[in-house]
Amino acid sequence: WKHAPPTLRDVFINGRAFKDREFIVYDDDRATYEAFARATLTLAHQLVADGVRKGDRVAVIMRNLPEWPVAFFAGVLTGAIVTPLNAWWTGAELQYGLADSGAKVAFVDDERLGRIAEHFDSLPDLERVYVARLKDETADPRVRRLDDVIGPVAGWAALPERPLPDVPLGPEDDATILYTSGTTGKPKGALGTHRNMTSNIGASGVSAARNFLRAGQPLPESDPHKLPQRTTLLVVPLFHATGLSATLSPTLNSGGKIVLMRRWDAEPAMRLIEREKVNSTGGVPTIAWQLIEHPARSRYDLSSLVAVTYGGAPSAPELVRKIAEVFPGSQPGNGWGMTETTATFTSHLGKDYENRPDSAGPAAPVGEMQIRDPADGVTVLPPGAVGELWVKGPQVVKGYWNKPEATAETFVDGWLRTGDLARLDEEGFLFIIDRAKDMLIRGGENIYCVEVENVLYDHPDVMDAAIVGVPHKTLGEEPAAVVHLKPGGTATEAELRAWVRERLAGFKVPVKVAFWPETLPRNANGKILKTELKKVFADETAAA
Ligand code: ATP
Ligand code: MG
Repeated sequence: WKHAPPTLRDVFINGRAFKDREFIVYDDDRATYEAFARATLTLAHQLVADGVRKGDRVAVIMRNLPEWPVAFFAGVLTGAIVTPLNAWWTGAELQYGLADSGAKVAFVDDERLGRIAEHFDSLPDLERVYVARLKDETADPRVRRLDDVIGPVAGWAALPERPLPDVPLGPEDDATILYTSGTTGKPKGALGTHRNMTSNIGASGVSAARNFLRAGQPLPESDPHKLPQRTTLLVVPLFHATGLSATLSPTLNSGGKIVLMRRWDAEPAMRLIEREKVNSTGGVPTIAWQLIEHPARSRYDLSSLVAVTYGGAPSAPELVRKIAEVFPGSQPGNGWGMTETTATFTSHLGKDYENRPDSAGPAAPVGEMQIRDPADGVTVLPPGAVGELWVKGPQVVKGYWNKPEATAETFVDGWLRTGDLARLDEEGFLFIIDRAKDMLIRGGENIYCVEVENVLYDHPDVMDAAIVGVPHKTLGEEPAAVVHLKPGGTATEAELRAWVRERLAGFKVPVKVAFWPETLPRNANGKILKTELKKVFADETAAA
């Protein structure tokens, strides 16, 4: 099992060794490893010519296009701190990300240019903007066409051979600023080093080895050059840790193929799984659900799938049983992680996961976890006790960019305070209970939203469910549910409340159930936007 490469530049070099293997597929665009490497080197030299130096910030703001990894690794090769921003953000939010990071160069696509152009004057650090797939000409002297540097994907293989830019780069150098999802507040930039980014690759290697040993199987061939290529359908954005550090970097390092989608949509995804013989999909639980529940699923050949894995958000225990039923040739996998841990920190798959369908697995063998008393943040609690999860390891970033107070609160003595409530079992398997901020206190009784949500997910008519707190004069807060039913589902408010009442203590039963006409609103990372949902009840309260 390969150890983590020291820097992302080494990941790029490892990838280049796969030469004529295909690396990225997007619509009709297909690029081999060599083509990708040539485009990246060409662009890296352009950045050097533009004056980008070690430590400068280079922003990447695009949909999941093949140009995304080219821009990212071109930035890496110059020693810049590459700053992917959320392509879903509005113009004002992008302005915040560009100003907060002080980006000198930004890579955008045509759509993003439209959003940021009006903010140029308030971004004095921004010297150059490269636009991928630019449709119309622009008069702004800062704006350049990315095509003028690297041309269309089909031409990348014919670009001239270039050496690596000569920059000293080590594992402790800053590599990335990744913004958190903004589920609980304004997104924070997590400043990660090359070691943080690449240790995910080493950690997933040792985790995989452990999984084979636990299953009583011999370790398979570890040299990726001797293994058949593995194809992954990337269904989450590249700008978050799951897409970037848990999928793109390890795939590049081990010669896999990535199939990109412009945006997530279940039916086109199934078409791609069939066409490209996809072996794994990684993403968030709701994506797995949508494949399972899709009425047209049986029309597609999905038998190439060997792994359906997800993480990043709570998943109902029911999901793992469904995967075994619907994709019998596939191992289900689940993991927990944060932007601050550069993606996956715990994970498990196959039998381990089936045996503990409500766990997110043990820590990768390079990391440590503790459950501490949330009241003092110091006392370490024994196995079985619920408290706040603290983690430590080479994947944990050193702090937040430009946010000394938040950094001091969250990063304490080498440990990261996660804000998640959890317990560990005797064997070190992690059970996420809820976000500390998502716990409701109803007249002194704790209610973990996830527990109630999981009971709702178990109802045969429920496709999607969320519990939110609604204010109550004397009790403080009470739980209310927002539910989206499956096609043809007929459950009523009274039926759903009765369903929960049969299974959980009375104080956990939602006092109201609102029906949502479509899948619940989520942010780019697949997390339900509870603040949006709360408005349903706020309007009701206002009307009453
Ligand atoms: P912000 O920090 O800006 O509010 P965020 O916490 O959603 O946003 P991320 O770093 O993308 O931003 O998400 C990390 C969080 O996702 C974790 O703290 C946890 O609450 C949740 N999470 C991740 N994996 C799982 C999992 N397997 N089960 C339950 N929750 C998970
Ligand atoms: Mg967070």
